[in-house]
Amino acid sequence: MLHINTLLFIVITSFLLSCGQPSKDIHETRFMMGTLVRFTIVHPDKDIAKVAIRKAAQEMQRIEDIFTIYGNKPNSVKKFNRLPIHTPFTFPSEVNVLLETSVHIKKQSHGAFSPSLAALNKLWGFSNAEPPSTPPSPASIQNLLPGTQNCLQKQGKQWLRTSPNCQLDFGAIAKGYAIDRGIEVLKKYGIQHAMIDAGGDIRLLGKHGENDWRIGIRDPRHKDNVIATLSLHGDVSIVTSGDYERYFISHGQRYHHILNPKSGWPSYSSESTTVIASNATLADAWSTALFVLGKKGIKIAEKLPLQALIIDSNGQVYHTKGMPINLLTKP
Ligand code: ADP
Ligand code: MG
Repeated sequence: MLHINTLLFIVITSFLLSCGQPSKDIHETRFMMGTLVRFTIVHPDKDIAKVAIRKAAQEMQRIEDIFTIYGNKPNSVKKFNRLPIHTPFTFPSEVNVLLETSVHIKKQSHGAFSPSLAALNKLWGFSNAEPPSTPPSPASIQNLLPGTQNCLQKQGKQWLRTSPNCQLDFGAIAKGYAIDRGIEVLKKYGIQHAMIDAGGDIRLLGKHGENDWRIGIRDPRHKDNVIATLSLHGDVSIVTSGDYERYFISHGQRYHHILNPKSGWPSYSSESTTVIASNATLADAWSTALFVLGKKGIKIAEKLPLQALIIDSNGQVYHTKGMPINLLTKP
C-alpha cells in the first residue's frame, strides 16, 4: 500500500511536470540580424518542427539580406543610399511595402520614427563590429542632421532622396518583418504553437502546451529582474526596445542606439518600451517610435489601437488601459 506522503509526492511531481517545461518543446537558436533568434515549437513530430525551423530561418536570413545596410552583399537599399540625389528609383515590391509602412508610421508618430537615419546611425556606430565608447562631435551631428530630415520624396511609384545624407535604415522595423515572415513559414508547415524571439522581438502562435506563453518585461536598470509578466496566446507579437542593450556610458552620461530624429542624439524620453500588436512589423516599429515619444506616446498607442508599456527616464511605468500585464513592482 502506498504511504500518503509517497502519494502526495507522486501527485506533486506530476503536477510540476505538467506545469513546467512541456515535454514536446523543440528549441533551436540561430544568430541572425545581429542577435540570437530563439525558435520554440510545440509539435508532436520533431522532424517536421526541425524542417520548419530551418526553412523559417532561411526566410528570415533572406529578409535580413534584402534590408541590411551593412556588409558587402549588394541590395536595393544600399543601392538607393548611394544613388545621385533626385534620381527616381523603383524598389522591389517587398522593400517598397516596408518603406510605405515606415513612412506611414513616421507620420503617425509625428516624426519619432524615421526610416532615413542611416547616415546618423552610422556616425554613432552602434551597429559596428567594434561598438563605440565616445559620442561623435556635436558639429558632426549638426552637419548630418538637416540632410536626414524630410528628405524622401515619392514620384509615382518611385522614390528619390533630396540630400546625400538621406539614407534608408530599416533597423527598427526589418527584424519584426523577418519574424513575421518566419512565422508564415512555420504556419505553412502546419505549426500551430510556436514562438520566435529575436532578442526581445517576439511573435507567438497558439499556446505553450496547456498554458499561455509567459513573457517577462525586464527592469531596464537591473537586467536580471523582471518588472512585469504577461500571459499571451493566439497569434500576437510583443516587442521591447530599450536603452540597455546597445549603449555606452561616457562622463556619466548614457548613450544608446535609439536616436531622436529631431536632434540626432539618443532619445532620453524612456528607458524601455514594450508594444503588443497583431504582427511583429508593427510592434517593432512602434516600440522604437514610442521609445522616442515617451509617456506621451501612450495616448497615440491607445488611438491606434496598440497595447503599450513605457518605462520613462525616471523609471516610472505607464501603460495603455488594455495592456494585459501583471506588474510585479508598483508603478
Ligand atoms: P533593436 O534593434 O535593438 O531591437 P530597435 O528596434 O529600437 O532596437 O531599433 C533600433 C535601430 O533602429 C537602431 O540601431 C537604428 O538602426 C535605427 N533607429 C535608431 N533610431 C531610430 C528612430 N528614431 N526611428 C527609426 N529607426 C531608428
Ligand atoms: Mg524597433
